[in-house]
Amino acid sequence: MPDAQPAPAKALSAPQKALHKLGLRRDIDLALHLPLRYEDETRVVRLSDARDGQTVQVEGTVTHQEITMRPRRQLLVTLDDGSDTCTLRFFSFYPSHQKALAVGARVRVRGEVRGGFMGRTMVHPAFHAAGGELPDALTPVYPTSAQLPQAYLRKVVASGLARADLSETLPPELLDGLKAVVHGTWTLRDALRYLHHPGPDVSLDALEDRSHPAWQRLKAEELLAQQLSQLTAKRERDALRAPALRTAPGGLHEQLLAVLPFALTGAQRRVGEEIARDLARSVPMHRLLQGDVGSGKTVVAALAAAIAIDSGWQCALMAPTEILAEQHFAKLIGWLEPLLAPLGKRVAWLTGGQKKKQRSEMLALIASGEAALVVGTHAVIQDQVVFQNLALAIIDEQHRFGVAQRLALRSKTTEGDDGQSREPHMLMMTATPIPRTLAMSYYADLDVSTIDELPPGRTPIVTKVVSDQRRHEVIERIRAQVAQGRQVYWVCPLIEESEALDLSNATATHAELSTSLQGVLVGLLHSRMPVAEKKAVMSLFTSGHMGVLVSTTVIEVGVDVPNASLMVIEHAERFGLSQLHQLRGRVGRGAAASACVLLYTPPEGGRLGETARERLKAMAETNDGFEIARRDLEIRGPGEFLGARQSGATMLRFADLATDGHLLDWARGAAAEMLAQHPAAAEKHIARWLGSKAEYLKA
Ligand code: ADP
Ligand code: MG
Repeated sequence: MPDAQPAPAKALSAPQKALHKLGLRRDIDLALHLPLRYEDETRVVRLSDARDGQTVQVEGTVTHQEITMRPRRQLLVTLDDGSDTCTLRFFSFYPSHQKALAVGARVRVRGEVRGGFMGRTMVHPAFHAAGGELPDALTPVYPTSAQLPQAYLRKVVASGLARADLSETLPPELLDGLKAVVHGTWTLRDALRYLHHPGPDVSLDALEDRSHPAWQRLKAEELLAQQLSQLTAKRERDALRAPALRTAPGGLHEQLLAVLPFALTGAQRRVGEEIARDLARSVPMHRLLQGDVGSGKTVVAALAAAIAIDSGWQCALMAPTEILAEQHFAKLIGWLEPLLAPLGKRVAWLTGGQKKKQRSEMLALIASGEAALVVGTHAVIQDQVVFQNLALAIIDEQHRFGVAQRLALRSKTTEGDDGQSREPHMLMMTATPIPRTLAMSYYADLDVSTIDELPPGRTPIVTKVVSDQRRHEVIERIRAQVAQGRQVYWVCPLIEESEALDLSNATATHAELSTSLQGVLVGLLHSRMPVAEKKAVMSLFTSGHMGVLVSTTVIEVGVDVPNASLMVIEHAERFGLSQLHQLRGRVGRGAAASACVLLYTPPEGGRLGETARERLKAMAETNDGFEIARRDLEIRGPGEFLGARQSGATMLRFADLATDGHLLDWARGAAAEMLAQHPAAAEKHIARWLGSKAEYLKA
């Protein structure tokens, strides 16, 4: 199968299907499918030289064979290689085993030697008839699936490797640059051949920790492909047209600034200007606004919306759930709606659970352009929603939205006077700051604005990690807070009693707190409640009538009640680090001293696992979202961190951002140069590494 050809139309065999499932379609995919580890079959050792626990290959004569029933049915074979003997033990076996391992047979056997006091043994060793040439390279062991036998995979990988086009894509000047960061001058072809079939004298450590120059070359290539595809996506976007948006003196932007009950922080002003500059250009903005929980992203979004509306265009605001959309944008709407009314403009809502009649009213408002601001959930991007002229799409908590959804937003274009279509500008907001290495790699195609300053007058949140055994003390503390007129969140991880997990749940905790806190209104909020009920509970809490709100993680993002000063997170050990940080960010929004209590329950008779302890420790040690994000990346790796941003397809397979920063730096410079000077080679490089997956990066 040549490289560029699509999958053949004829039916696939089972192993072929399994190959496709692993993403192994083209020769180059097979060539890039690298071993997990290696087995050394290049030498035969003497049994007397084998250490306990070592995996070795030995060759000898079978001197005894029997089937015993105790302690359970098994085949026992004694092998003698002249230096010592070893018992081979098979708990499952067939007549073919007995035949091949008959007394007198000479066999080559490979397995882990255990030196018990009954003599050496190997359990379920691999074996075949003795003799035959020893391989001169280590035997690769590939990542595979149940339907794909290792031996078959080895064969197809070897032939894929032999057939694949591995010609050099890097122009000489970039290769020179690479030599300055990578030791040795490995070509891709040599590197791959070597990594599939390394010689017997290789340092397995260097292969395993991927510091070997062959690995370095491969990782550099992979990072280059990633950078190239992101740069390409960015250039393609730069070729598109968008409406140039400008606010007029005395316009909505200015009016909004005048009605705000506070002055912007320096950071808010700076990012606001960055966004305004982008919006004024006729190229679609693709900007990520990152700022810690509570840093005041909403007002920045509102100012951007004001610019779009001032220019006579529409703005859409999206949040991942209805309750978040409502909670999160309530302030923004409160500010803008009164300013829109004199202009004859309105705010339209679109959510999944809406009544049909209301929905068609909203759709009409949006189509006519009367709705200058459209707020909602995923419902905003559905096909039936036709905008009169959408200029700006703002996505909150962007990591919760998938690639397809962002692409759908992009497709809501408007035809300009010149007959060309106008793409909406896109502003994505996140409270999970992206560590620098990730920003440089996975998000290289995005412009990033950062709010690195909290509004003034906030007191830092004190975080305490407390064992569930001291739960009653925590409840006393709640009582004291409520007595001072403050409000409290209590977050639980599960909705219903699950015997298997034995988690105390929101319902039980709600009952418990209601009983122990007589005279305090304790509310309950969980994701299975009807929306109307959720709203009723939220409004009681927002208005200050409810002292304690017990909830599942529905309040994770977006809720803003400055009077809340205590956050209790039950079974904190079960939450991820950034989730904990987001939850904690719900308090400390007013001037009162705030606290977060992380209640943990160690497993019966044991202690918390290592990662859980690391997470809780990080939470207690820092309030800084960037530091939290950095530690989160360390603990979890980039895969989970990125969430929906990347499909598995575009994840880095080989490079590790924690250790390969020098390669990333090289790749960044090299990608720009290659795209400018050698576009054909760049295209070939992207196709080789990413194939059809490159599409994903365009969102
Ligand atoms: P987030 O970045 O988490 O979305 P919000 O936009 O919800 O943060 O802002 C958190 C709180 O801070 C809100 O109550 C908001 O009105 C308030 N706020 C925002 N900017 C300022 C400011 N410059 N000065 C004082 N309060 C502010
Ligand atoms: Mg927010």
